[in-house]
Amino acid sequence: MQLTGATQLTLSVFVFFFGLAMGSFLNVVIHRLPRDDVSVSKPRRSFCPNCLARLGWRDNIPLLSFVLLRGRCRECGNPISWRYPLVELLCALLALSIFTTEGFGFGFLFYYCFALALVAVAFIDLELMVIPDLLVFPTMLLGFVSSVVSPTPLLTGEHLWDLLLAHGWPRPLASLSGAVAGALLGFFCLFFAAWVYERRRGRKGLGEGDPPLLAMIGAFLGWHSVFPVLFISSLLALVAVFALIFAGKLPRAKKGEGGPPIPFGPFLSLAAIVWLFYGQSIEHWYFRFMGI
Ligand SMILES: [Zn+2]
Repeated sequence: MQLTGATQLTLSVFVFFFGLAMGSFLNVVIHRLPRDDVSVSKPRRSFCPNCLARLGWRDNIPLLSFVLLRGRCRECGNPISWRYPLVELLCALLALSIFTTEGFGFGFLFYYCFALALVAVAFIDLELMVIPDLLVFPTMLLGFVSSVVSPTPLLTGEHLWDLLLAHGWPRPLASLSGAVAGALLGFFCLFFAAWVYERRRGRKGLGEGDPPLLAMIGAFLGWHSVFPVLFISSLLALVAVFALIFAGKLPRAKKGEGGPPIPFGPFLSLAAIVWLFYGQSIEHWYFRFMGI
């Protein structure tokens, strides 16, 4: 369907506000899902995590309330975490970007859920150093459903996809096999890396939630995205560690000892978002560069 400029603009504005609202909801998930004393649906009203005062509607408007309150709680005056406006803005920009590339349809629905899960995982891991299974496993299943409902050669790898179709495989099955292979490869390559590290160094080098997270990413982006995502995330983590050491926020590791633990989930999530938008371009550039 060809949209006129004005319709496209109206829809984009609508999608942006929809994204802000989803970001507001995701902030609730990020705060409540990993905590035992609250659930995502109870209490129904949002509250200040510091003084527990309930928030009225005017203190609950995405982005705007944070600006109007100058980043402080109306009741206790304590600063509101920068995470709230950041998550809202991120979710709005992701909605807009996925809408621009996918349009409205199953592609938008599935990829936006995937992106929301990645944002939630990143911020929960950053704050509490855990990656909730309750978030990762349902999203992984959604990845399998997505591969069947909107089959894509990108999950299987284009050459393998052509080969499977030529052998009479139906498109959904060819696509699903790429997603399942992605989940298995994602899980086992990090699981194996963690196992080798623990045996050689006698201490844990990776969080328990990291292998399932890479499995979730593999289920959505396909088997051949697993190594590039791992490579990009390691590169990002390395840059972040050097930046933190340089800024004096991270003590240097002593010889023979590990440094302070750093959550890997945010870097895997960021790398998966980079691959979601630029994976195809990076892959084509890489193959051209290698002369393949
Ligand atoms: Zn307060």
